This record gives sequence, structure tokens and C-alpha cells, in this order.
Amino acid sequence: MRIAFIGLGNMGAPMATNLIKAGHDVCVFDLSEKAMQPLEDAGASRAKSAEAVTQGADVVISMLPAGAHVKGLYLGNDAAQGLLATMTGNPLIIDASTIAPDDSRRVGAAAAERGFAFVDAPVSGGVAGAVAGTLTFIVGGSEEGFERARPVLEAMGKNIFHAGDTGSGQVAKLCNNMLLGILMSGTAEALALGVENGLDPAVLSEIMKQSSGGNWALNGYNPWPGVMEKAPASNDYQGGFLTDLMAKDLGLAWELALKSKSTVPMGSQARNLFALHAAQGSGGLDFSSIQRLYRRDKE
Ligand code: NAD
Repeated sequence: MRIAFIGLGNMGAPMATNLIKAGHDVCVFDLSEKAMQPLEDAGASRAKSAEAVTQGADVVISMLPAGAHVKGLYLGNDAAQGLLATMTGNPLIIDASTIAPDDSRRVGAAAAERGFAFVDAPVSGGVAGAVAGTLTFIVGGSEEGFERARPVLEAMGKNIFHAGDTGSGQVAKLCNNMLLGILMSGTAEALALGVENGLDPAVLSEIMKQSSGGNWALNGYNPWPGVMEKAPASNDYQGGFLTDLMAKDLGLAWELALKSKSTVPMGSQARNLFALHAAQGSGGLDFSSIQRLYRRDKE
């Protein structure tokens, strides 16, 4: 399949590499020249513009930072015409960025007006999952769009879910990440309380893992340095999933809750914790560094 891939950052670059490895004919575009070179070395062709990369494509995939970038790319802005106005043929559009569900719905509706199929397909699994090709894709869109997207997504991921109509992928992703933010901050809180009352964090972790407090953050991503050798906490919180991105996702979940008039007291608490942590200069560290917010010694 001829695949156009737009946005070759931390996630997009390894995802596009896996499409090349699966034998697809991949053409890439990123605003950064530097980001395109490794993909060209891996066997992709490189386009000079977003408009050019979509020419002749069966599938167009975007992996961009936020909603403004996705809307700008497809719908256009003051500086440029959007792709929906210039694309020809019958390509399926897959946007894998994490953005507000309403932004996905807006782009999806504009795509449908032009006769293009669109699915939102945000991912879970982080950079490690993108490199290993084991991402979870949470797809929103028609059944037909989902079935067209599935074989392409299978080259980059392990679990492919259909959450519902356009925008539903984003809703499910935001619910998941809100829960993850709550679990990580709760885990950090419990560990700090135990340590400040004389417990060894590794012993306490093992006890809670085997008890009713066990959860994904504690069991596989322990936020206390040295407890889990492979966790970002044991590598000075480098790599992993950035605090800035967790704060972004919790902000999107908060906006979603405002819109549906839902009460999310735990989610809003987590949003404030991660936003404060980012504001204090930890935005570029893994999100499990929220542990530092609870520590008197600030290791
Ligand atoms: P990133 O900032 O590393 O990469 C974004 C890339 O998009 C950059 O290379 C940038 O130059 C490019 N770009 C921006 N606007 C563009 C445009 N108009 N045309 C072409 N290229 C453009 O971001 P990332 O970490 O790869 O994340 C991408 C998306 O995936 C985000 O929405 C993020 O929330 C989501 N996500 C990230 C992770 C993670 O662990 N990094 C995990 C799950 C989901």
C-alpha cells in the first residue's frame, strides 16, 4: 500500500519505520528536515510538502502534537490551504494524534463533505510501544473506515479497538489517561506516606502489589527510584511518557467533562497536580516523576 505519513516525532518516526518494515511504500513529510532523514535512510521517500506527500496515497496518517496542528493540516489556516482542499483520489485518513474529540469530529465531518473516509486512532503504549510495534490503537469512525484502517494499524500495533463513531477513539483514550494520571499520583502518594513513616519503598511496593492497592502504575511502572530496574524512575525519569503530555491529556479530559457536565473530582485533582509539576520545570521528565512532588528529599 502507498502510505503518506505526516509528523515524524517521537511516536511518528518509529511508527512509520514499522510500516516500511511491513513492506508498505511509505512517503513521509515533517516540517523538520532533520526528522525526515532517518526515515529516508530506512527506505521511505520524502516529500517537499504535506500536499505533495498525499499524492497517489491509499492511506494518509498524521501523528501531530495537538488539535491546532491537526486542524491546520487538514482544514487550513491563515497561512495555508488545508489538505482536504488539495487531496485527490480516495485515500483513507487516519489521525493518530491525541486531540479533543470535537476537533476529530470537525475534521471528520469536513473530510466526509469532500468524500474522504476519516478515522481518529489515538494510541496507547508510548515510544517503547511505537518502536516495538505493540501500540494499542483506539479507533473512532464508521465500521467501514475501521476495517480499512485495521491492516495498516496492525503493522504498528498489537491491540486494535473500535470504540464507536468519529471522536470516540479520543474519548476512550482520554478516559484511559485520566485514570492513569489518577493511579500514578495515588501510587506516588501512598509510597511517600509509607517511606515517611519508616517503610522501605521496595517492601511497601511488594506488599501493595500483592494486596488490593495493586494497579498498573505500581505493578509495572513504579515511580520510586530504584524499586523497579527498568522503570523510568530508576533512570532519573528519562524517557517514557512526558509530564507535559500527561498534563495535556488531563486538560483535554477536563474540557470533555466540562462539555458533558460530568463530575471528575479525581481527574481534576490529577490535572492540577501534573500541571503544577510541569510548571515547576518537570514537563520534560517521565510522568512518574510526580513522585518528586511528594518527596521531602526530592531525589
Ligand atoms: P512530537 O512533538 O515528538 O512530534 C510531532 C512532530 O510533528 C514533530 O516532528 C513536528 O515537527 C511535526 N509537525 C508538527 N506540525 C506539523 C505539520 N503541520 N506538518 C508536518 N509535521 C508537523 O510528538 P509525539 O511525542 O510524537 O506525539 C505525537 C502525538 O501522539 C501527540 O498528540 C501525543 O499526545 C500523542 N502520544 C504521544 C505519546 C508519547 O509517549 N510521546 C504516547 C501516546 C500518544
